[in-house]
Amino acid sequence: MTDNHSSKAQPDCDVVVVGSGFAGIYALWQARQRGLSVRGFERGSDVGGTWYWNAYPGARCDVESYNYAYFFNNDVVREWNWSDACAGQHEIQRYLRFVAERCEVLKDITFNTKVIAARYDEETGLWSVQTSAGETIVCRYAVLAIGALSDPKAPDIKGVSDFAGEAYFTSSWPKDGSVDLRGKRVGVIGTGSSGVQVIPEIAKVAAEVYVFQRTANYVTPTAAGPMDPKLVAALREDPQAIRRAFRETFGGHTPLRMGDQRYYDLDAAERERVLQDAWDGKYIGLAFRDAYLPEANAAISDFLRQKMREQVNDAWTADHLVPWDHPYGGKRPCQSDVYLKTFNQAHVRLISLPETPIEEIVPEGIRTTAETIALDVIVYATGFDAISGPVFAIDISGVGGRSIKDEWVDGPLNYLGTMVHGFPNLFLPSSAMSPSVLSNMATLAEQQVDFIFDTIEWLDQHGRPLLHPLPVSQEQWREETLRYAQRRPGALTTKSWYSGANIPGKPRVFMVYTGGFKRYNETCYRELENGFPGYELLAPPRARRGEQVSGG
Ligand code: NAP
Repeated sequence: MTDNHSSKAQPDCDVVVVGSGFAGIYALWQARQRGLSVRGFERGSDVGGTWYWNAYPGARCDVESYNYAYFFNNDVVREWNWSDACAGQHEIQRYLRFVAERCEVLKDITFNTKVIAARYDEETGLWSVQTSAGETIVCRYAVLAIGALSDPKAPDIKGVSDFAGEAYFTSSWPKDGSVDLRGKRVGVIGTGSSGVQVIPEIAKVAAEVYVFQRTANYVTPTAAGPMDPKLVAALREDPQAIRRAFRETFGGHTPLRMGDQRYYDLDAAERERVLQDAWDGKYIGLAFRDAYLPEANAAISDFLRQKMREQVNDAWTADHLVPWDHPYGGKRPCQSDVYLKTFNQAHVRLISLPETPIEEIVPEGIRTTAETIALDVIVYATGFDAISGPVFAIDISGVGGRSIKDEWVDGPLNYLGTMVHGFPNLFLPSSAMSPSVLSNMATLAEQQVDFIFDTIEWLDQHGRPLLHPLPVSQEQWREETLRYAQRRPGALTTKSWYSGANIPGKPRVFMVYTGGFKRYNETCYRELENGFPGYELLAPPRARRGEQVSGG
């Protein structure tokens, strides 16, 4: 199984799954259920993906635990007890371990092993997957469940390696408890969702905290708190009905609360009351039924700015913590009940980088255009090279030896967010042009993996072992993604990682399909029901005729 060459006519296994987050664990289980032989690879020492790596203090999911979970297995739904409506990182990782154990997929995973390359062999129609351990596995199908936010962005700041103190990334926080910030002077760069969660925790123990903010974000109340036993009981009654129902919604889950009145049906006083109710009820982003309209969005954005300012005592700090450059939702909004109030503490100071940019990181701290701030520790909450970053981290080549980097030189191009022309039988769940992070990622993981394995089953049943999308399908899908993005306030005008704008030189392509989960799911399954008209089905290569599925 470990031969170090790629021209074998027979595969070592049917499927290789890379990654063991929500999608990877479920993909391993699906492969086994369908009688396919499978190997899994994970660069971490345990399962969890995002929830393995982002182990920074305060890390938790702001999508509620009622929704952010698997539903494919009734026993899992009925046996697992969430301690909080917004579970913390540690608990979500434990949950994923529990599911992996329950599904008996741990034995299929090789941990502490990166996949470094994947090459398609045109003679055999097989993929050769190379690992950091020097192993090469030949397979029929490769599923790269590598996540959308798994490739940390290198800080593009002069002098990063000159700093004499300790430096940590939220995206790879040490898990051994070795980080001790007590009594230290800590600088945090970045105020996205990770920064907003970690900063209050750092402020609890550090002597001085300096928050280096380039762009302010909207921060709304969290739904954290005890689980509602009635809701839990309802989920457990018929998990499969819930699972089906999620796929009929726009976001891949049923919003627990949302406004039921339309912005244009209300007068000014009624709008204010509706906004206040939504703020109190923790669904401000969905305050109106038509919250997606620019005017409704502007009302929500104004209201939020006012609510955010009210939480901060110092006028200058309040003004600077409020986002003026983009509408609510243009960037991914943050949730915290304590972040803004953290700035009322005497030892916490905001540094506004548009006014006093960082010039350089120096051995003793961070030098801005105004001063040098002495630090013991720098925490980078600087985000990720989203979506295409993890794909490019693997040397992937397809038909004609073309690399995926070359194919995506002008930004990601694929069909239905899972497959790329010229890369037959390579599946990329949670990649570009899927509902991705603007949907419930747990539901998406199940939906995409179901679709991938339903596709594989179809191919096997029809004796057509190879499939890739037509170029025209990719063009149309990109256009459709763009068309929906145009309707989303701020989507195309805000500098955000949704469109690659956080990475210097990255092509600006809005990478998330916002046509809704229901439409996405229906489009995928329409392809399957109609025999894949948007794809090219290839005959078995000569070298593989007569091959049998190797079975699990
Ligand atoms: P992010 O949203 O991309 O935020 C990165 C931050 O670092 C931004 O404030 C950015 O400023 C700043 N930054 C980057 N480079 C900088 C530089 N050279 N100088 C100064 N500032 C710099 O990354 P993230 O906070 O890690 O979040 C990424 C995504 O992960 C989120 O959007 C969300 O989807 C997911 N997440 C989810 C949760 C959850 O609860 N479910 C929690 C954490 C993260 P600019 O805005 O000016 O670029």
